[in-house]
Amino acid sequence: MSVCVEARALLRGRVMPVTLVIENGVVIESWFGNSCPPGYEKFSFTREGLVLLPGLIDLHVHLRGLNQSYKEDEYTGTAAAAAGGYTGVVDMPNTYPKINTLSTLRSKVKAYEDKALVNYGIHVGVPVERAYELLRSPVVMGLKIYPYDLYNAESVREASRAAGMLGKPVIVHCEHPAAIREGCRAGERWICRGLEAEKLCLREVQRLIDPQAHVHVTHATSPELVYGARSLGFTVDTCPHYFMLSSDDERKLGCLGKVNPPLRPRSIADKMLELVVDGGVDALVSDHAPHTVEEKNMGFDICPAGMTGLEAYSRIMLDLALRGLIRLELMVKLMSTGPARILGIRRYGCIENGCRANYTIINIKKGGVIRPCLFYSKAKYSPFEGYRHRGDIEATIVNGLPIYLDGELIPENRLPVPLGEWTCSLRRRLWVLDSETR
Ligand SMILES: [Zn+2]
Repeated sequence: MSVCVEARALLRGRVMPVTLVIENGVVIESWFGNSCPPGYEKFSFTREGLVLLPGLIDLHVHLRGLNQSYKEDEYTGTAAAAAGGYTGVVDMPNTYPKINTLSTLRSKVKAYEDKALVNYGIHVGVPVERAYELLRSPVVMGLKIYPYDLYNAESVREASRAAGMLGKPVIVHCEHPAAIREGCRAGERWICRGLEAEKLCLREVQRLIDPQAHVHVTHATSPELVYGARSLGFTVDTCPHYFMLSSDDERKLGCLGKVNPPLRPRSIADKMLELVVDGGVDALVSDHAPHTVEEKNMGFDICPAGMTGLEAYSRIMLDLALRGLIRLELMVKLMSTGPARILGIRRYGCIENGCRANYTIINIKKGGVIRPCLFYSKAKYSPFEGYRHRGDIEATIVNGLPIYLDGELIPENRLPVPLGEWTCSLRRRLWVLDSETR
């Protein structure tokens, strides 16, 4: 199928009119200026204020599904992603049942094939049954290590060895279980799960994870963890809630502010914001972790941790960019090219011949308000309810076709592909990561 997209693209700090001819999701011809030739289905994004960016990718989401489809499923989760401008998401394995066997991986892949609106991938969890075989699947983007997995040293060693051989990253939730306590009141969970837990975890990760494997530390909450991880050659991401919110918000919001790792005191959150703005992290993720409203309404001690982010965070980051707090190019790096590099995905969202035609079109003239009741996600709540943002997501183009346009989903345009089909060879990927982190 051939389509033609006319838009104004952000290229090296300037907005330039471009025309892209796309066949089967790949750019086959592109030139400067807006001039789609006749004979193609044309999508025009040339209105003032619209800017085409490389497609956003979120490498850390929980779209639930399987036996937890009442919280979220592959359709509602990817619909939320599309509405947030994300062209690709990578799902986490702490589902029920867990994604660590070939049979659960197959059911999950089937659900994605049947329902996904955007490109997708899955990280598998330990202990992994037949690690090499499972990790080799093109749908599998990486291996996820949770705090309590650190007590399962042999499984972590074995699975990370397979990940290393296949050139897939090991994604670590870095809090050492020995330093985690429960029972802290709202506003004080940062004491129960202090920075010591992150420090101890780094030491253990260094000891347990196969040295061949690339380690990516996810949702870092403090500059100490970011610097520590980077000094070991790891890449690092964080979530907007770790710099937009603080433990004071946890006190006010109760369970809506409960997340793991916990929100930190304002002084640490401010330093995280500075670090992000200075380009000190490699990516931003949402850690979109939906639960039902009833679950989030339970008592603070027993309610499940997790925030929603797919429909709010790109808008909040765009707002920060348009208010001059972060460069738009840096936002693109943190939410598109950075995640693609960590995952080893090549030629994603660029505009030259051979590029995968995945784009996020923002509208810098528009604005809006975060309204969770309008979320496509099943989890219709957010700590950012009522947040007024400058700019908005105008369209999400997945493999050449708009799947989300001006507030509406277009499910009939769905052409999702496993992100792993576009990853590069091990040697090339390690070189890219190495040159980036040096
Ligand atoms: Zn998570």
